[in-house]
Amino acid sequence: MWIDVITIFPEMFPAGVGVSILKRAQQERRLRINIHNLRDYTHDARRTIDDRPYGGGPGMVMKPEPIFEAVEAIRRASGHAAIPPHAGECLQVSPGRCHTILMSPQGERLSSTLAQQLAATAEHLIIICGHYEGVDERVRSALVSRAISIGDYILTGGELPAMVLIDCLARFLPGVIGHAQATQEESFTRGWLEYPQYTRPPVFRRMAVPQELLSGDHERIACWRRLQAVTRTLASRPDLAEVKSS
Ligand code: SAM
Repeated sequence: MWIDVITIFPEMFPAGVGVSILKRAQQERRLRINIHNLRDYTHDARRTIDDRPYGGGPGMVMKPEPIFEAVEAIRRASGHAAIPPHAGECLQVSPGRCHTILMSPQGERLSSTLAQQLAATAEHLIIICGHYEGVDERVRSALVSRAISIGDYILTGGELPAMVLIDCLARFLPGVIGHAQATQEESFTRGWLEYPQYTRPPVFRRMAVPQELLSGDHERIACWRRLQAVTRTLASRPDLAEVKSS
C-alpha cells in the first residue's frame, strides 16, 4: 500500500511510523509512506496555510488552496509514478482504489473492521491532517472521499490520528505481521476482547500463571482462553457482547 500524508508538521512522522514493524514493512516494500509539507504548496513569502473564519469566531481555519494543490499534485504523480522497484515491478494505482482521507473528529469512527476493509481494498491513501479549527469545508465536500475519526475527543492536530490510522491498517497488510493468525486472535477482530497473556516466570511475587496454561493440553488451554475472553468482554466492554448477540 502506498500512503501520502499532507501535514504542516512533517517532523512528527519518522518517530511514529518509521520504527519497529512499520519500519520493516517499508524496508520490505509492503508499505510506502511519503510525507508532504503543506507549506510547500503555498505561493506567498510567509507560506500561509490558514486564515480567519468567515462569520467570525475564535481560531483559524486551514485554507483550501494549498490542500487542493497538494492533493492534485499527489494524484497526478500517482497516475504515472511507480511504487519503488520490487523485483522489477511497477504498480499503477487505479482511481477506484485511491482514497483521499481527512482526519476529523466528525468522521466515521476508526475500527478494526474499517482498517481491515481499507487494507484489503485500497492501494493508495492520501491523508490530510487538519489543525486549528479544522479545514475549509470545500476540502471535505469536493476533495475528500472519507473522513475518519479516532474517537470522540478533540486533539490539537490530525498527525497523531493519521499515525494511528496508518499503524492500525498496516497490521492487516499481507506479510506485515509475522504470524497472520495474530491479527485474527486480537481484541475486536472476532468481536471479543483478547484473553489474558502470561510469560515466564510461572510464579512472580507469589502471583502464579493459571494452571490451564501450564497444562500442555491444547483443548483445555483453548477452552480457558475462550472463557476468559467472554468474561473479560462482559466485564470491560459489555457493548461488544451486545453487538454479538444482536
Ligand atoms: N473544530 C473542530 C471540531 O470541532 O470538529 C476540531 C478541530 S481539531 C482542534 C484540529 C484537527 O485535529 C482536525 O481538523 C483533525 O484533523 C484533527 N483531529 C482532532 N481530533 C481528532 C479526532 N478525534 N480524530 C481525527 N482527527 C482529529
